[in-house]
Amino acid sequence: MNFYLGIDFGTSGARAIAIDPDLTIRAQATYPFSSSAFQSWVTIWQTALYSLLEQIPVTIRQELTAIAINGTSATVLFCDDKGNPLDEPILYHDGRGVEVLEKVKAIAPPNHSVLSATSSLAKLFWWYERPIYTQGSYFLHQADWLAFLLHGKLGISDYHNALKLGYDVESLCYPDWLTQLSLFPLLPQVFPPGTPINPITLEISQRFNLNKDCVVCTGTTDSIAAFLASGANQPGEAVTSLGSTLVLKLLSQTRIENSNYGIYSHRLGNLWLTGGASNTGGAVLRHFFTDQELEDLSQKIDATKPSPFNYYPLLKKGERFPINDPNLPPNLEPRPDDPVEFLQGLLESIARLEALGYRRLQELGATPLIKVYTAGGGAKNETWRVIRERLLGVPVVSSVNTAAAYGTALLAKKQLYQFAPTIATDPPNPP
Ligand code: ADP
Repeated sequence: MNFYLGIDFGTSGARAIAIDPDLTIRAQATYPFSSSAFQSWVTIWQTALYSLLEQIPVTIRQELTAIAINGTSATVLFCDDKGNPLDEPILYHDGRGVEVLEKVKAIAPPNHSVLSATSSLAKLFWWYERPIYTQGSYFLHQADWLAFLLHGKLGISDYHNALKLGYDVESLCYPDWLTQLSLFPLLPQVFPPGTPINPITLEISQRFNLNKDCVVCTGTTDSIAAFLASGANQPGEAVTSLGSTLVLKLLSQTRIENSNYGIYSHRLGNLWLTGGASNTGGAVLRHFFTDQELEDLSQKIDATKPSPFNYYPLLKKGERFPINDPNLPPNLEPRPDDPVEFLQGLLESIARLEALGYRRLQELGATPLIKVYTAGGGAKNETWRVIRERLLGVPVVSSVNTAAAYGTALLAKKQLYQFAPTIATDPPNPP
């Protein structure tokens, strides 16, 4: 039988899921990142990758057809000509790029997604000003480097990871303002996500008893992988993540960008994945209630009756989407004595912001919403689902699969979207 392996490198750990041709999960493995003992991220990631492979049953390893890996977006490495990192990786949320932001602004078009202190390009500019820069040969994303450990090819990436590097996902090339730079030769060659690049190396095949013909494909980012896992695949279908924050993702026929609201679009084959992230969400619920209370009190709410309370649930001032106001204050008043009424007010207010968020995306030109899948800690709350369905006016369902590793396994199988050709075109050239 053919099996497909998706490997997810998220913020708190790594996970692998193997699926069969019917998309059924046949094996799973996890590797939590420990923050105790000091080890470089490079060592931790390599150990995690190899541990995940070892945890997959040998019978499945021997029949693996394809592997794809997702990493956290804008987590990057600066490597020598052998792929050895010359410095600690710079992680997704590291804002040191603020030091060089003016230099990025001088070359990139206004409102471009690279114009952020955490963008991959800002991180490369930061390295550009360090002495080790002269020893560098490859600038890679986390997913690119991990895939290199398996297939041995350097300088390969995908257009999801490369968006914050400045790659033009519409024209499928690097823009002129990037190709003119002296650091351009360090940038990876970009392929559609899920493009088969090379079989695993002989060494990896022998060491882990893996099918020697197993192909390693280009990957994606962790949040796109989670979207792929949900099953949403039609224009107008969306995934709301009810985690610590409220994150909306809507599959659209049109590409929309709006830097004021922090909205940008990823390419998904011939469609666009657009969305925004609000500071409201489960972190506010957790501030007032334990998870057990959330479960118990929610059952006492009549979800069909509207609450009289209209809050803006935030833990501190400031919001980007669906309202852009860095000084927007939290609004949690008036607070009724009855915790059931208070919770209903909170759940309904977050749902109202979710609905406003989807309206905002549509106002900016996205395909109208037809169905919402749900992921994150709040997805199990049936009362909330009914409230949200009332306010959103479209069916709201739970995602069957929420694990990013599952979405990446689908990518390896080329189950979704016409992302990738069967064989990578131009063999990649070293810079
Ligand atoms: P993160 O974004 O941190 O990964 P999770 O997806 O794990 O978050 O979700 C955690 C959030 O889920 C918490 O902030 C918590 O308030 C919320 N949550 C947990 N249980 C429930 C519930 N029964 N109803 C609504 N929200 C819940």
